[in-house]
Parts: sequence; C-alpha cells; structure tokens
Amino acid sequence: MIAKSMKKTEVKSSAKDVLKSDTKSAAKSALKSDAEPADIKSAKMVYFFDEGKKEMKELLGGKGANLAEMTTLGIPVPSGFTITTETCHMYHESGKEFPKGLKEQIDANLARLEKEMDARFNDKKNPLLVSVRSGAASSMPGMMDTILNLGINDSVVESLIKKAGNERFAWDTYRRFIQMFGDVVMGAEHHDFEEEIHKMKSKKGVQLDTDLNAKDLKELVANYKALVKKTTGKSFPENPREQLDMAIEAVFGSWNNNRAIVYRKLNDIHGLKGTAVNIQAMVFGNMGDTSGTGVCFSRNPSTGENHFYGEYLMNAQGEDVVAGIRTPKSMDELAKQNPTVYKQLVAVRDRLEKHFKDMQDMEFTIQEGKLFILQTRNGKRTAHAAVRIAVEMVEEKLIDKKTAVLRVEPNQLDQLLHKQIDPVAKKKADLIAKGLPASPGAAVGMIVFTAERAEEMAKKKEKIILVRTETSPEDLMGMNVSQGILTARGGMTSHAAVVARGMGKCCVSGCQDIHVDEKSKTVNIEKKGIVLKELDYMTLDGSTGEVFKVQLNLVEPALSGNFAKLMEWADEFRQLKVRANADIPRDAKVAREFGAEGIGLCRTEHMFFEGDRIKAMREMILANNEIARRKALAKLLPYQKSDFLGLFKEMNGLPVTIRLLDPPLHEFLPKEKREIDELAKELKVTSEWIIKISEGLHEVNPMLGHRGCRLGITYPEITEMQVQAIMEAACELTKQKQNVVPEIMVPLVGNVKELQNQKAIIVKIADETIKKYGVQLKYMVGTMIEVPRAALTADEIAKEAEFFSFGTNDLTQMTLGFSRDDIGKFLPDYLSKNILEKDPFAVLDQIGVGQLIQFAVHNGKSVRPNIKLGICGEHGGEPSSIDFCHRVGLNYVSCSPYRVPIARLAAAHAALKNPRK
Ligand code: PEP
Ligand code: MG
Repeated sequence: MIAKSMKKTEVKSSAKDVLKSDTKSAAKSALKSDAEPADIKSAKMVYFFDEGKKEMKELLGGKGANLAEMTTLGIPVPSGFTITTETCHMYHESGKEFPKGLKEQIDANLARLEKEMDARFNDKKNPLLVSVRSGAASSMPGMMDTILNLGINDSVVESLIKKAGNERFAWDTYRRFIQMFGDVVMGAEHHDFEEEIHKMKSKKGVQLDTDLNAKDLKELVANYKALVKKTTGKSFPENPREQLDMAIEAVFGSWNNNRAIVYRKLNDIHGLKGTAVNIQAMVFGNMGDTSGTGVCFSRNPSTGENHFYGEYLMNAQGEDVVAGIRTPKSMDELAKQNPTVYKQLVAVRDRLEKHFKDMQDMEFTIQEGKLFILQTRNGKRTAHAAVRIAVEMVEEKLIDKKTAVLRVEPNQLDQLLHKQIDPVAKKKADLIAKGLPASPGAAVGMIVFTAERAEEMAKKKEKIILVRTETSPEDLMGMNVSQGILTARGGMTSHAAVVARGMGKCCVSGCQDIHVDEKSKTVNIEKKGIVLKELDYMTLDGSTGEVFKVQLNLVEPALSGNFAKLMEWADEFRQLKVRANADIPRDAKVAREFGAEGIGLCRTEHMFFEGDRIKAMREMILANNEIARRKALAKLLPYQKSDFLGLFKEMNGLPVTIRLLDPPLHEFLPKEKREIDELAKELKVTSEWIIKISEGLHEVNPMLGHRGCRLGITYPEITEMQVQAIMEAACELTKQKQNVVPEIMVPLVGNVKELQNQKAIIVKIADETIKKYGVQLKYMVGTMIEVPRAALTADEIAKEAEFFSFGTNDLTQMTLGFSRDDIGKFLPDYLSKNILEKDPFAVLDQIGVGQLIQFAVHNGKSVRPNIKLGICGEHGGEPSSIDFCHRVGLNYVSCSPYRVPIARLAAAHAALKNPRK
C-alpha cells in the first residue's frame, strides 16, 4: 500500500519541508543576511555605533543595533561601541575565556571613544566614565546585568569633583558604582548595600537618598568598600580598564543566570547566541536638579492611546526609575517642569516612531538641561494596546493591514479574552485602595507575600495575589503562578508592571494607599483602617488600578471595536477555517460570537452528564440485554435530539461535526457508596449488583480499551440512537427551512473495517430518517484520525470517510506512548532535562505526530482529492500547531470557543508567513 501512495522517505523529506519555516532556521537566515560574511564577522568582534544598523539585531543585540541606527539618524546618543553576541557565544564555548583579539579590539574602540569624548580613563582633567549594558537580539528587560558609572576610583572621584564642580554628584556617582559593580560583578549582596544606605539615612534622620549630602556619600563609599572587602575577600579594583574587563565578563555571564534562563523559557526565546555588550560614554542624570532620567513610550503601552507617555525622576540615574524605589513623575509634568527638553523629546519620539514604524520605548537622560537618548526599542505592550496601536497605525497610514495583523501575537489575545470584574458587583463593592493600572484584566485570589509562598500555593491549585512592596527579578516564578500582582511602590515602568504586562497578568503597581509588611505578613490600609492578613481574599482591577477587599465576580469579555476590526483583517488573509469544540448550545453561542465558522467537535458524551440524563445513561449501561438497553436508549433519545436542535439552531447553517459516543462506559457509573446506593434504589436493584457490573467494566488500560467505535461495534443500538437523534433534529429544522449541515464522526478508528461497520449503521438510520421526514438533506460521514494505524492506512480509510478530523490528543498519546492523564508525573523532568522542549499535548510534536498527520493528509487526498481535513485536538488552538496545520494543507482547525480569536489570528499569521502555492 505504501508503494502505491507515499513512501516513508518521501514523507520524511516533505515533513522537513513543512518544518522549513521553523524559527531556528529563520533566525539562522536572519543572521546570514547581515551585511558581512561569517569569517569576517567572527574576526570583527566590536562595532563602533556608527558601524552598525537596525537590521543587525542578531549580531549587535536589539539595544546595540538601535543605538547604531539612532547614531546614523543624528539622534543625540552618547558615543560608544558594541561587543557582538557571537563574542559572548565564543566566550561561553571556550570555557569563559575572552576570545583571542578581543582585548585589542576593545582597546582600539576605547581609544576612539576617548578621542570623540575628549575624555580618558583615569584622566585628571576629563575622566571618561562609561556604562556597560547587556542587550540580546530579543529584549529581555531587567534579566541581565548592567553597570553604570564605570571608570571611577579614588582619584577619578576627585577629578570629577573638579570638573563638575559638584561634590555631591561625584560621591553619589562613586557610591552607585561600588554598589552596582560590587553586587553584579563581585558578588556582594544587594541588600547589604541597601542596609548600609539605610543606616546612613537613619543616622542622618533623612528619608530619601537625595537627602544625603556629599560628606555622607563619601562616608558611604568607604563603608561600601569595606563591605565588599569583608564579604568577597577582594579589594575593589581601582584600574578602570580592569573594571571594564570584569564588567564585560559579568554581562557575558548574566546571559546564563537563572532569571535570564527562566525568562527565555517563559517567553519562548530560542536559538540566540548570547548577549551583546554595549559600552557607552556616561551621561549623568544625577548632576543636580537640572538633570534627570526617564523612560518613555511613544504611545501608552497599557491602553495603546496615542499619547506621549512616560515617567522620569530628576537628580537620578536610570536604575532609580526602573527599580521603583522613588515614585516617578509623568511626562505631562515634564512638559511643565522643562518645556524645552520636553519639546526635544517629543520631536525625538515622532522621528523614531516614524522611522521604526512601531511604538517606541525609549530611555533618556537629561544632563544639566541637555537631552540624551540611551535606548530605543519596540515597546512591550498589553494585548489591548497592541491591538489599538496596530489598528490606529493603519488608520494613520504608517503601516499596512498585513503588518498590523502580524504585529499582534496570537497568544497575546488571551489577555483580551480575560475576565473583567462584573460591573454590577463592582458598583456595590468597597474600594479599599487605588494604585496604577499597570496591566489590565482582573484577578481574584488569596494574598501571599513572597514568590516562594506563591509557588507553594499554586501547586495546591489555589488562586493567589502576590502582594509586595516592590518586585524584583527573583520574583519572576512567583509572579508567573499568581492571578495578579499588587505592589506598593513603583510606577508603570517598574519591574512589576513591565513583567506583568509581558505575562499578560493583571497588575496594580505603585499603590501608595497600602503598606506591606512582609515580615508580619500584613497589608495595612491606614486610610480605611483595614489590615489584611495572608490568605485573605482580594480582587484587583488592573485596568483601573482599583483594589477591593472581597472576592468579586468576574465576567467574560467581548469581541468589539479595534479587536473586531483586527480580526476582520486577519480573516482577509487566512486560508484555514476556524471552528470550535462545543458540546452545548451555550458554548456554541460563545464560539459564534468569537467568529467560529462551525463546530469541529461535539463530544456527545458531555451531554449525558446533566440532570436526568445520567440516570438514563446508567440504566443503559447496567442493562443486561439488548431489549433493556434499547428501552434506556429510548429515554436518552429526546435529550440528545433537543441538544442537537439547539446546536444546529445556534450554528444556523454552519457545519456541525458530531462525534459518536467515545469514552469507556465505566466513566458514567457512580463511584461513591452514597451514589451507588441511590442508583440501586432508583433502579430497584441491589448496590452489590451495581458494584459487580462496575467491576466487570474495569479495564487495565481504559484509554486503550472498550471505547470509541468499539462501543458502537459491540452495541450497535447506541450508534443507532445517536444517529436517529442527530438526523431527526436535522430533518425537523430542514422542514422549517433552516439550513443544517451534520457531519457524523466515528471515533478511534484504526482499521477501515471498523469504519465500514459503523458507516453501514449510520447510513441506514440516516437515510431512513430522511425518508420518514420527506426532506432533502445532505449529511457527511467521516472519522477521527487518532490511532497511528488510522494515519498509516489513511488511503484505505479515505475510501469510506468523507472527512478526517485529527484527534491529536489521542494521536499524541498513542504515538509517543505517553498516557495523557499521567504525563504530569514525568513531564517536568523531561522539560528540565531538555528531553522535550514543550508539553506535546499542548504544542504539536511536528516531527513525530506531525509526520503521521502529513502522511495521512497526502494518502487520504490521493484517494479522495476533496476530502475535508481538520484538527480537533487541543493543538487546534495553539499558534505553532496552527501554523503546521496550514502548511500541511488542512481545511480547518477546531479549538475551544475562547481560543477562536487566537486561532483566527494564528491562521492569518501562518498564511502570511507561508503562502500556499
Ligand atoms: C482527541 O483525541 O484529540 C480528541 C479531540 O478527542 P478526545 O480529547 O475527546 O479524546
Ligand atoms: Mg480522542
């Protein structure tokens, strides 16, 4: 059979073709398309900013490439150079050695920087200070290391005092450097430094770092140095060039720190070489009240509104804004406080947004009234903002519809499909505090105060809200498992806000009404006289910043406005149809509202669990002869028929695929003694008898046992009843002039004879029913492809089946030999040991299971060229699997109703990225 259809080797190579557009190879070709050939590139490890461009992200990292681009554009960027990501890779590959020639290239670029800045390392008159920043090809905010103010030492600090004429600034800069370098490079503990500064502030009776004077800071520098010596056993390095090498090594090293690894895993970042290192002349935001620093977005990253948005602090350095230690001021205040700089900044924003044609996230520093831009990148945004920005940029003629559709990540839409607080419940609820609306959506859960506790509670499947004074990268895992995050400090660009938005989690930040005491595990809301303890409930509204004390009801979202518009555009590009898996009319309604074009899977067994139906079902299972079974089935028929009527009506002429009974029968029997006794009483039998029948139905491997079409083969009357119910409902509606398209699907077929057996019953009953009603009605008979043998004999099966629906849940189970119900026991090990990259039940195993699908598609079509092909396993709603489905030529994907918009967008992405020939 294989000889006349598709040979194994052919499948392999064509499977490879399908896998061609895989991200890894895309990354590789992107790397290749950089201006220079590989051998030259490996020789050149350092690029001065004017030697790069925005297209060189793979090599220079996002930050480096954009600094280069801005330099060429004439934006005021402090000079500097970038060590490539490949150099970082070589460093790690060689067992953490600087590659040969790197030091010399750094020296040469440093000499050029010194010349351009007219400043030198260690210079008495004009000392050069630099920042050393990480920056990979994909942005990983806050995950890797940065060192500012490098180049300062005991003599440079004096030169700086003379040069700047500002003693406080010089000592502040020195203490910042020791703190950062001591922590990041030398391994001293961050909180020990915090402790020292806290002691100093207490001694001086002041609140803020900015209240410490030059003398205090000088003393702090001495204390910091002693601290480094004591905790690391090493003296603080005085030589700037030595400082620089150590800092570069630390940044290289930070590529593989735990939080960077976790971040890459969570964000699906693969195939990158390492981080680039950007060495840039320092500009100072801490030079007094005419200096400052900030982060701004060309549009609001939370709502998408086209309004210049950002935060800044005067007399501060970058880390102060991001760390959330002081609560920053808004851009609108900058317009009042320093209109000249504000205007310049607006001009830069306009220029950069037009140039990059996307919303920009920029870092700036004002040094004594002069503006510098330190970074620009495409800004991270909530799904809400992503959709609004994409749609509005098309309306502004900045981008086309295709670009707009590709700008929004399908999975990101999940955020828009998140629940909101029920407006009625919210009106009545008592607002206890209000912070910043850092990341939209709503969350209800029990309060916990540490990331560890959050993880512990999440393991117990509890819903939790992580409440912190401020979060740090160490909290990443805890944030990931929480429903929502609430912080007392920090603005819209604080760690909590940025990370939560990336994760699509509800977050309220900078909530100054609350005081969090992590030691006593309490949240004190003094204004309201409320103290909340660990495990008390709380509801957050991340779209408004509101905090409520109680558990409020959350409601489902709707598809409207910009979201609906983007979806319409996506529909213009996609070739895959999108259906939903829905068993009851209510789910079908949701699915249609989200744009489903049919039902791809109605699991009829789900209809048997409600109300009185389960009784009739149990009666049928317990019947010990055909007559008794038929009697019970007759009771089930009206239920099934009314369900199908509801579904067909709801779908109003769209196709509805109904699967015949699938699960093993014992799943319907009661397990608990009380339930068994009740059933016995009702059926007028003994409990012992029910137990005996249940035991008889026991199977060692129920998933491979008496289920699927095997049930219909043993008990044809079950198939008969189901088909009669489907067809009676369809005929009745046809009589009422409603269009109905029933597709009857046989589960778990592995042998064409199984399908022939069931099809004979289906056709007989269906035709009889149509005749009885005297209507014209077309129906289809097809099968699921869930058993590997079905995929391998698809050409035989296609002779009988008018459609295939790939049941990739079972197909994955049987192809991998992993029980779908027990994978949790070993999956974490497989993932952590890199045996598997992803859960194969969530993300289609394209190389294994995918090959079977492709084989079946090819061979099915060879026999029946217009065979209808779909997928209804969980993978039908997962973007990378949808991309695969598009590439192998399926007609539709079917997924849960709430994933329908995600599938529509993913199908459009797939079509745009891989046009079908
Ligand atoms: C499947 O196996 O993929 C499928 C959709 O069927 P179920 O999940 O009901 O076994
Ligand atoms: Mg199945």
